Amino acid sequence: MSDLLERLRGRGWRMTSQRRVVAQVLDGDHVHLTADEVHARAAERLPEISRATVYNTLGELVSLGEVIEVATDGRAKRYDPNAHRPHQHLVCSGCGTVRDVHPARDPLADLPSEERFGFTVSTAEVTYRGLCPSCLLA
Ligand SMILES: [Zn+2]
Ligand SMILES: [Zn+2]
Repeated sequence: MSDLLERLRGRGWRMTSQRRVVAQVLDGDHVHLTADEVHARAAERLPEISRATVYNTLGELVSLGEVIEVATDGRAKRYDPNAHRPHQHLVCSGCGTVRDVHPARDPLADLPSEERFGFTVSTAEVTYRGLCPSCLLA
């Protein structure tokens, strides 16, 4: 589990019912939702929650470093609560399912110094693409 709610409580984040619902929607493993998906799911639990509140709360969680923004398909950004364990993404080209994966080697360490052009490199993002088991069968 990503323990997002627990982490936020631990930090003393002011927990209103609206913020709690957003955090609950994002809590869990392999969660990579667009802002609209977060809003739709939050509204199932709290029908009056506005899109603006969801967007503001997401922005706040990102600036706290508790949620990361992931661009997996060049379209809408996705919000990922797995913010404290470095990981890469496995994306299904058929249905868009996203999995958190941990390559055997650190992609950052894999870039040789002569390929760094003098840059101080701090992060690396790798997206593995293919078809998930259900899309393979379809
Ligand atoms: Zn698929
Ligand atoms: Zn992820």
